[in-house]
Order: sequence, then structure tokens, then C-alpha cells
Amino acid sequence: MFHKWPKYTVVFFSVLLMCLPGFSIHAQTVKHIVVIDPAHGGEETGNIGIDKVAEKNLTLAIALALQTELARESNMEVILTRDSDKTLSLDERKNNITKIKPDMVLSLHINAGFGKTSSGFELYYPGFKNVNVPRKSGKKDVVGAENKHLNDTVKLARLVQKNLDGLFPRKSRGLRDAGVPLAEGPSVPVLVVELGFATNPDDKKKLASDKTQKEIARALAKSIKSFF
Ligand SMILES: [Zn+2]
Repeated sequence: MFHKWPKYTVVFFSVLLMCLPGFSIHAQTVKHIVVIDPAHGGEETGNIGIDKVAEKNLTLAIALALQTELARESNMEVILTRDSDKTLSLDERKNNITKIKPDMVLSLHINAGFGKTSSGFELYYPGFKNVNVPRKSGKKDVVGAENKHLNDTVKLARLVQKNLDGLFPRKSRGLRDAGVPLAEGPSVPVLVVELGFATNPDDKKKLASDKTQKEIARALAKSIKSFF
């Protein structure tokens, strides 16, 4: 019988109802958006290393396993930059990320060394000096946002380091502040994980195994869950 009430009464009660504790459509439907970026793809194979399995296939397999791990989380929406073996340029990835505006981006890579001895995982994040801050209006806000993104990235990096360390003891090569091309443009936290070396026989064998891929996915999923 709303139509018989004066319009402002309806508006007043509607607003009052929305202010009641527990009546928050917003809190219930807003999810943390996580973008998983399996690096390379299609014509761009990435590192090939010591056997025929290319970096692009390993990053995709691990990204898909990670998506499966996180699919059960009702408070998260997981989006992959690619879910098949397709060519995707850096600009396409960045434009998609800018549109999606995720809470975080986890970019997965496989490293390569000059010899066969390099082994283990490395984490890269763009430190403050590596983040573009536009000089124009709103600089203060941009700096504030970039500070938050940096804090978030470091927090996630520490969690990933801890959980991967549990899987690959003493294999951490550290957390490095470096320029991350994927983070240049989209104003969101971006963490790059180099999961091992394609040029190391041991690393490569592990990375190509279904078992290790799932273990890595679980370790990364655990880190993301702890982060939120
Ligand atoms: Zn790569």
C-alpha cells in the first residue's frame, strides 16, 4: 500500500531501514576482487628452459589451479587476465586491470638464469619510487592511494613468502623492490611472483608436475585468504 502514502514518508522509512544495523546490501554483496595474471601466452611463450614446457603453460596451469582453490570463497571474485593459451599484450592486461579495479593483482612468472644452478622463488613489487604519481590535480589523494597500495603489496608479499617457504624451504630469494611494468598505469597493488627457474632441472621438474602446481596454488590461495 505504499502508493497511498505520501512520497516523502516512503523515502524516509526506506532510508531509515537502510541505516539499520545488519541491513547492508552493500556489505553482503561487495566482494574482494582478485586478478590472477598468468604471464605470457599464445605467441609469447616466456622462458622455455631445459625441456619443452614453456613458461606460458606453467603460469596458466597454476593460475587455473589457484582459481579453483579460491572458487569456494564467497567473499572473493577471482578474475584471470587469460584462461587459455592466447596472446595478450601488456597494454591489454593493463587496460583490463584498470577497468576491473581489483583489490590486488598477482602476476605469475617462471624465472630463468644464466646457468642451471639458480633456483628458488622471488617476489617483486613496485616500491614507492617505482610508482608513477601524476603531477596534476589530486596529487595528495594519489600519493595516499599509492601508499596504501604499497602497504598492501608488501603485506601480501610477506604472506606469499611465508607460505611458499613452507612449500620450498630455504628457497626464497627474497622480496625485491623493482619496476613492475604491469603496475605502471593501473593504480592497484601488483605483486609479481617468480615461482622457480625454468633453467634449473629440479625447479622445472617440480613446476611441471601437477602435484606441485596444486601445492603452489594452495600456498598462494592461503596467502590471499590471510590477506583479506
Ligand atoms: Zn615471465
